[in-house]
Amino acid sequence: MPIDATLPYDDDNVFARILRGELPSTKVHEDEFALAFHDINPQAPVHILVIPKGRYVSWDDFAAKASDTEIAGFIRAVGHVARGAGLVEPGYRLLANVGGHGHQEVPHLHVHIFGGRQFHEMIPPPRG
Ligand code: AMP
Repeated sequence: MPIDATLPYDDDNVFARILRGELPSTKVHEDEFALAFHDINPQAPVHILVIPKGRYVSWDDFAAKASDTEIAGFIRAVGHVARGAGLVEPGYRLLANVGGHGHQEVPHLHVHIFGGRQFHEMIPPPRG
């Protein structure tokens, strides 16, 4: 079920528990600002999630409330992880779902990194 991204942060969400080490994850990268791990239900040969260390429900929450240092650190971590996975030359896709229409299921900001195969156009060209 998609979450309501306007609700306050829930400290019991699955990614908060991974950050606290209460649940396992297949860690790809960790630094002061971010943790990256493999998605448990991969949708591509490479499917990595990158989450900020701070308590942010969504991209909107993060964009509105995170410090410039946290934002820079998180964005750099996403780039570092994708580069480290060898995805820059073949290319990759980033996705951050937000709230109901975005079908966000976990109420802690996460960026999906998809790679290892060809993706299609997000929006097909007009017919005719
Ligand atoms: P979203 O729909 O953008 O909220 O995506 C949530 C993602 O988290 C899905 O791709 C799930 O497969 C993934 N996920 C949920 N629980 C775990 C977990 N314990 N470890 C790794 N990935 C998870």
